[in-house]
Amino acid sequence: MITLQTDLTPEQYFTPELMRHAVAKKAGIAPTDIADITVLRAAIDCRGRKVCYHTSLSVRFNGEPPLPHPEPYATYTDCHHAPSVVIVGAGPSGLFAALRALEVGLRPIIVERGKAVEQRRLDIAQIARRHQVDATSNWCFGEGGAGTFSDGKLYTRSTKRGNVSDVIEKFIEHGGDPSLRIDAHAHIGTDRLPAIIANMRRTIEAHGGEYHFSHTVTSLIIKNGEVRGVKTQEGASFEGVGVVLATGHSARNIYHLFHQSGWLVEPKAFALGVRVEHPQQLIDNIQYHGSTHSPLLPPATYSLTAHVADRAVFSFCMCPGGVIVPAATAPGQQVVNGMSNAARNSGYANSGIAVEVRPSDVRDNSPLALMHFQEAVEQRFYQAANLSVDAPTQRLVDFLSQRESATLPRTNYVGHTIAAPLHNLLPSFVADALRQAFPLFDKKMHGFVTNQATLLGVESRTSSPVRIPRNPITLQHPQLPRLYPCGEGAGYAGGIVSSAIDGMRCIDALVSLQR
Ligand SMILES: Cc1cc2nc3c(=O)[nH]c(=O)nc-3n(C[C@H](O)[C@H](O)[C@H](O)COP(=O)(O)OP(=O)(O)OC[C@H]3O[C@@H](n4cnc5c(N)ncnc54)[C@H](O)[C@@H]3O)c2cc1C
Repeated sequence: MITLQTDLTPEQYFTPELMRHAVAKKAGIAPTDIADITVLRAAIDCRGRKVCYHTSLSVRFNGEPPLPHPEPYATYTDCHHAPSVVIVGAGPSGLFAALRALEVGLRPIIVERGKAVEQRRLDIAQIARRHQVDATSNWCFGEGGAGTFSDGKLYTRSTKRGNVSDVIEKFIEHGGDPSLRIDAHAHIGTDRLPAIIANMRRTIEAHGGEYHFSHTVTSLIIKNGEVRGVKTQEGASFEGVGVVLATGHSARNIYHLFHQSGWLVEPKAFALGVRVEHPQQLIDNIQYHGSTHSPLLPPATYSLTAHVADRAVFSFCMCPGGVIVPAATAPGQQVVNGMSNAARNSGYANSGIAVEVRPSDVRDNSPLALMHFQEAVEQRFYQAANLSVDAPTQRLVDFLSQRESATLPRTNYVGHTIAAPLHNLLPSFVADALRQAFPLFDKKMHGFVTNQATLLGVESRTSSPVRIPRNPITLQHPQLPRLYPCGEGAGYAGGIVSSAIDGMRCIDALVSLQR
């Protein structure tokens, strides 16, 4: 058995016989010596003229024994009678905190303002149909959090491979495709995520964990100066050895609770902008260098950054073959986001293009100032949409010329689009930065600025505009012992994988306190 790294053409990567010949050549052996090849890691690279896959492969020779079947991954303990930990929020950080709790012998009590995925799906369908946003059950709130009907890209900037593998293995254990292990740009897809999230619930409940859906946490229970539980708007109380607060970047009532109670919260830089959509074929032709690329290649992705006027502008949550969705969390807001199904076959490519927003951009020095700024922009877009979830939309070329679009092309937004002057609706420094960045993006991806590209707004839930501080070692809030601000909402993660890792870290920190 040997492990080797080699570059393969798409045809070699996707055709077992061609792969065998390419690998044999690379290893200096005969193709007939190879019993089988296992792909350990693969990353597509379209930077050069010829698109290739960088691969890491394990090659087994004839006569060698087959690899043993992998052991079941995690060892969850029966926690029916174990001490409880209260976890607020059932997004990736809350769910992975709960799974970790079962591994270390704590019984997770999950308190979630939204509904179980099965019911949540129905509420989401109503948003575009009836223009009704349920403030407890929507694209961000409910079982699985913003991660359930997300795109399910499992990339992260985290360099700790062990932690990332832990998250990937738990996704696979609950129904994710084993190829998630291999693909450097692993993607689950919106259509597959709900079943995985429901399987996690089965694991958690089978080992003694509890879910309390439709319970919005409105206050903390503090005993002898330590946080021991939470109270909900519905009149229930839940107590345990500590509280993991994993409420996500849209939990505005939690930020108000902290601010009004005099508990530390801080403004946090975030990003705001638009979602840009192109025909997927146009992006494929740019990224794969012409229209004659291999039909085996997946819909192409891109990642763009620019620095203009001392400000970062970047693409965010790029969804090849995706759909744009209305992601507001309460009536009176207009917000867009993107997702795609596993097959990524919608024919459209969308991506957030966001501009850095800093605390110094607002005059108000309240810790919630950036959240108020974010809310005001979302309300402005809602007004422009005539008090609906229609998406204010403009052709990219018209945005650059600062004129409203006379016509709009078809888009893959799940609701309706409405022509609007995004250049006026966005804060001027955001619009200016975008106007400078798009031509730079076009230099990197020639053809990006085209009459076929549309901008939809507003992309405002990129990350949290507020941080709930915590001690870097104990992970507890500085004024609230045994409270663990966690995940994206607390400002310590961005995306599914880093949120999940942070959930597990918070449980580990709580356990080390217990010892
Ligand atoms: C459409 C879309 C596509 C995305 N695509 C990707 C992607 O492809 N890859 C990626 O890495 N990330 C993606 N993201 C971002 C990702 O989903 C988030 O980064 C991640 O879900 C954050 O996890 P979290 O657990 O910290 O918070 P959340 O997922 O936001 O979960 C917080 C939970 O807390 C609950 N809650 C809030 N307030 C209260 C309260 N007071 N009481 C009780 N419960 C409460 C909410 O209902 C929610 O379920 C996407 C997001 C969206 C919306």
